[in-house]
Amino acid sequence: MPLSDTSHIAQAPRLTRLAPTPSGFLHVGNLLSFAATIALADRLHAKVLLRIDDLDRDRLRPAYLQDIFDTLHHMHIPWHQGPRDPEDFTGNWSQSLRMARYAEFLDALRAGGHLFACDCSRTQLVDGNYPGTCRHKNIPLDQPGVAWRLITSPDAIIPMRSIGKKRPPMRLPPSMYDFVVRKKNGEPAYQLASVADDLQFGVNLVVRGEDLLPSTLGQLYLASLLPPNPFPQTVFWHHPLLEGPSGHKLSKSAGDTSIRFMREQGMSPAEICTAAARMIDPGARPQNVLELGNWLLQREGADDRII
Ligand SMILES: [Zn+2]
Repeated sequence: MPLSDTSHIAQAPRLTRLAPTPSGFLHVGNLLSFAATIALADRLHAKVLLRIDDLDRDRLRPAYLQDIFDTLHHMHIPWHQGPRDPEDFTGNWSQSLRMARYAEFLDALRAGGHLFACDCSRTQLVDGNYPGTCRHKNIPLDQPGVAWRLITSPDAIIPMRSIGKKRPPMRLPPSMYDFVVRKKNGEPAYQLASVADDLQFGVNLVVRGEDLLPSTLGQLYLASLLPPNPFPQTVFWHHPLLEGPSGHKLSKSAGDTSIRFMREQGMSPAEICTAAARMIDPGARPQNVLELGNWLLQREGADDRII
C-alpha cells in the first residue's frame, strides 16, 4: 500500500538548506555538498537556509561552530536565512530552542498509536538492524530509560520526488525498520528533529549524499504519519559518494582536507575549489563555489528535471 502521495501537487523548490553539524571542522566533502546545493538552488531559483544541527550537544565544540561561519565567509557561500554568526545561532536558531516543537510531533505520533517503547541495548541489534524485539512487549512509553521506536511497515511504498533520475518504487531498507524517534535520554532523535525543522522552515529541496538515502526514506515515512503532510513534495538530489582517485571517501578524510587547514595555508577560495575538484578529477579547474557546484552537477548527471 502506498503512503499518502501528494506529489501530484506540483510545488516548485523554493528553499534548500546547508545543514552542517558542529562536531568537526568542515572538510572537502562538506564543501562539495554545499557547492552542489547552491548551484542547484541557483538553477531552480530557490533560497538557501543555513540550518546547523546541534542536537548532539556532547560532540559540539565552539571552535567547530565558528569554523562553519569562517568557511562560508571565506568561500563566499551565500545563504538567505538562518544565523549570521555563532552568537545569533545560539540565541535564536539552536535546535535546543525547538524542543517544544519536537515534543509536539512525538505527542502526535504517540496519540496516533505509531510508537512502542524499547529497552534493548545496541548489542541486541542484528547486523545493525533492529529485529522488532520489543514491538509486542507492551513496555510503557513513560517508563524511564526507554527509547521510542516508530512502528514501520516493510511493504509501504514511499513516494519521493527527485532531480533527473527515475528510481524504482522504494521501501524502507532494513536498517530503518522501527527506527528510533526519541532516544533513551528523552531527547528527540535526529530523524524526528530533521523532519520537524524542514517542515517548520519550509525546506523543499534537499541535497545530500547517496549514503543518506535510507535516512531520507525514513524521514518521508515519518512525515507521512504527521498531519498535514507536505514533505513528499520536497525534491531530493542524492549525490554519489565522492571519492578521490584512489577510491577513498573524501568525507572520511581528516587533517589536510579540512577547509580550515587550507585557509591557514593561505589558499584563496579559487585555489580551494580547484583543489577540491582535483581530488576527484585532476583535470578540473573550477574558480569559485558556483562553478564547483555546476561542475559537480554536470559530472553526476543532475539536470533541472524533477521526477
Ligand atoms: Zn527493543
